[in-house]
Amino acid sequence: MIEVIDITKKFDDFTVLENVSLEIEKGEIVTIIGPSGSGKSTLLRCLNRLEEIQSGSIKIEGEPVDKNNCRKLGMVFQNFNLFPHKTVIENIIEAPVIVKKEKKEDAKKLARKLLEDVGLSDKENSYPSQLSGGQKQRVAIARALAMNPDIMLFDEPTSALDPELVGEVLGVIKELAKEHMTMVIVTHEMAFAKEISDRVVFMDKGKIVEQGSPEDVFENPKHPRIKSFLSRFL
Ligand code: ADP
Ligand code: MG
Repeated sequence: MIEVIDITKKFDDFTVLENVSLEIEKGEIVTIIGPSGSGKSTLLRCLNRLEEIQSGSIKIEGEPVDKNNCRKLGMVFQNFNLFPHKTVIENIIEAPVIVKKEKKEDAKKLARKLLEDVGLSDKENSYPSQLSGGQKQRVAIARALAMNPDIMLFDEPTSALDPELVGEVLGVIKELAKEHMTMVIVTHEMAFAKEISDRVVFMDKGKIVEQGSPEDVFENPKHPRIKSFLSRFL
């Protein structure tokens, strides 16, 4: 479904991603772990063209990623990125109405269904400032789903949350997993990664240094850096 082929991403002279290749199958759940600054966010941002790459290629269903097919990717950011001056439902219908030219009433109908799915039916007229972090992130997930993506990308979706709110967001992601949504999830929630992943990818200094089943990567990592990285979460 997604093919990342030997990509390199630089900011000026600084190489952030070096010869990264990664394939993601339809229905697969891939989590990306690794130290801060290893290029995880940049990799996600390259996938949906928020960043330009210097070499290599990225394909979605066999076609080079461009401004049209990158809409097949929904993205959820660490800091929610909701429009503060718009209500919950206005946030959700914005892209379907503006980008996909959907009728407002149709978009609202879908938005209400998605709000029900994420347990926020009673919040459609609230503003983001009136919501908890967990609620904001669930709105952000509903907003991404409103574009009917084939793949969901999550960049540390729970890192900005109070610990007691992490579970409600992970619960929504687990529901998506049950529906076989294809997902790429950058996370520091190791128990969650172990539970949900078909494959775990470990990045270090701009490279994928190991990938495999959760058992392989968490129990029997080959790369020495992984053990020391994981020991921080014990
Ligand atoms: P991670 O998500 O794994 O913590 P990032 O992808 O955010 O890592 O960043 C990887 C490296 O790229 C870091 O050293 C970071 O400082 C650098 N970087 C990220 N974005 C930019 C940018 N817009 N300009 C310059 N350097 C950047
Ligand atoms: Mg990051």
